[in-house]
Amino acid sequence: DAERRKYVKGKKLGSGQYADVFSAHLSTNPSTLYAIKKIKVIEDFKDGITYDSLREIRFLQELRHPNIILLHTVYSTKNQNLNLVLEYLPGGDLLQLIQDTGGTHYGMADIKAWMAMLCRGVYWCHSNFVLHRDIKPNNLLIAASGEIKLADFGLARSFADPAQPMTYNTITKWYRPPELYYQAAHYGGAVDVWSVGCVFAELVGRRVFLGAIPDTDVNMVGAICNAVGTPTEDNWPGVSKLRGYIPVDAADVKPVRGKEHWMQQFRAVGELGVDLMMRMFALDPNARCGMEQALRHPWWTAEPRPSRNEDLPRRG
Ligand code: ADP
Repeated sequence: DAERRKYVKGKKLGSGQYADVFSAHLSTNPSTLYAIKKIKVIEDFKDGITYDSLREIRFLQELRHPNIILLHTVYSTKNQNLNLVLEYLPGGDLLQLIQDTGGTHYGMADIKAWMAMLCRGVYWCHSNFVLHRDIKPNNLLIAASGEIKLADFGLARSFADPAQPMTYNTITKWYRPPELYYQAAHYGGAVDVWSVGCVFAELVGRRVFLGAIPDTDVNMVGAICNAVGTPTEDNWPGVSKLRGYIPVDAADVKPVRGKEHWMQQFRAVGELGVDLMMRMFALDPNARCGMEQALRHPWWTAEPRPSRNEDLPRRG
């Protein structure tokens, strides 16, 4: 309760699929803004929101990094809503910039800067044993400085009541890696690397790279086979033993796409950029590059150099 009284709620900034977001400031200091995300908690969970479950979310408070949204505090109110006090990020999200094809122009230097920020944020999560598991352009929020911040960690959402009908872009499975469709019992940081690859390809092409409507598992696996290649025992040892594996007739196996194919589609990022992208799209999660490896890639230091924050495109 002390936490709640510290903040004065202001206007509503927006409504998401499972939360309302308000601006706020400290009662003792009106000049610094915060965003309070009020999560509508699913009825069945209400008694379950205890200090223990909040502890998991509070863990994120310790994940401090310039490219990860800062969670200042968490409190729950009498009616058992969860309130996350977050850093205020007024620049919208990356999806808005990608989709604003008429008004927002960005180039390879901007893509490289955004990708570097995304990769550093994800690397920091993984170094601290946190998986994000839902990386996509609308979860990459933009600060007043132009910096990108990884937002919307799934922990809080697991309590949430998805009240409104869901739109494809908010709960889409388009950014999920093949091991999740195949229901791998063990998975790791490679799931986020695949999603980072999807964001990379979408930034360059300004269209969703692996989309299917409806995004059923079968449709999504089909989209992955077409764009990347069909997972087989040859390119992914052990894949056919996974619980959700969908067998494919030998005649229908699509070969793993080679460099020439990727170059045709993503020539704008150059050979080094395509090399990095292909490593992020390795079908076998064990063969996929890790975040550390991604950050050491020669693409970052090749021309063009990443844009400075102050030169990055803004909304509007
Ligand atoms: P979604 O369900 O689309 O992910 P959210 O629930 O995260 O949306 O947020 C809803 C809206 O609130 C966003 O579209 C955005 O305009 C605004 N918003 C969310 N987080 C912040 C923040 N930290 N700072 C400023 N505005 C925010």
